[in-house]
Amino acid sequence: MKKALVTGGCGGIGEAVCKKLANDGYTVYVNYAHSKERAEKIASEIGGKAVFFDVSDSTSVRSALKDIGFVGLLVNNAGISEIDLFTSISDEKADDILNINLKGAMNCARALLPEMIKAKSGNIINISSMWGQCGASCEVDYSASKAGLIGFTKAIAKEVAPSGIRVNCIAPGFIMTEMNKRFTAEELEMIREDIPLGIFGTPDHVAEAVSFMASDRSEYITGQILAVNGGMVI
Ligand code: NAP
Repeated sequence: MKKALVTGGCGGIGEAVCKKLANDGYTVYVNYAHSKERAEKIASEIGGKAVFFDVSDSTSVRSALKDIGFVGLLVNNAGISEIDLFTSISDEKADDILNINLKGAMNCARALLPEMIKAKSGNIINISSMWGQCGASCEVDYSASKAGLIGFTKAIAKEVAPSGIRVNCIAPGFIMTEMNKRFTAEELEMIREDIPLGIFGTPDHVAEAVSFMASDRSEYITGQILAVNGGMVI
């Protein structure tokens, strides 16, 4: 049975991705850092396994994954965000954003790539954001981390393509999850008016894109950024 690891697998987008991939025939490792019960519940529903590690801690990542064997699909989805002025955000929060969103993805890829290279096969999908493509005021550290993921995707895709490994990026727009619960109904309406398709994205929209990038239907695609944003950034 093919194995997939989804970091942040119990968040809004992560859960939809785990369920979609299980449906596609993967045994899914549902990673969590804090939400143990939720991860275990999702894993039991889909016949997968919950796996604890903090993506920002390379030692924790390596020790959790050292006996996992060959994992053919890595979805780097774990992420945090914060709305604040660049000059007001705490140093600690700014470090967390870069360490989880960008270095976290690199830590996981570094842990799993040796087995992929040995197998001459593998697939890595990084969940970036439209703000990584065009930048968001008051989410500067977040935008920088997500732009970093795009740079990481392009560079590592070139490095590992000769080993038969594909690396792509999904850049979601405004997707209705916990991450966006902080907006008022009025703010949400203003945001919705800026979306050309006129509707918010759902975790399933992102999961469909991940499923496509994970499959052989995209076998000639690597190093690319697939936007799932209702036309918000074109
Ligand atoms: P969410 O519901 O808040 O989920 C975030 C997930 O990240 C949680 O499962 C959380 O797990 C995990 N996580 C946080 N810190 C972690 C760490 N140190 N190690 C391992 N896991 C960690 O957010 P979401 O909306 O589903 O977002 C998922 C991804 O999509 C993020 O990368 C986000 O930036 C990106 N994205 C979201 C949107 C959107 O509009 N929602 C748009 C563009 C991009 P624990 O609870 O266990 O900590």
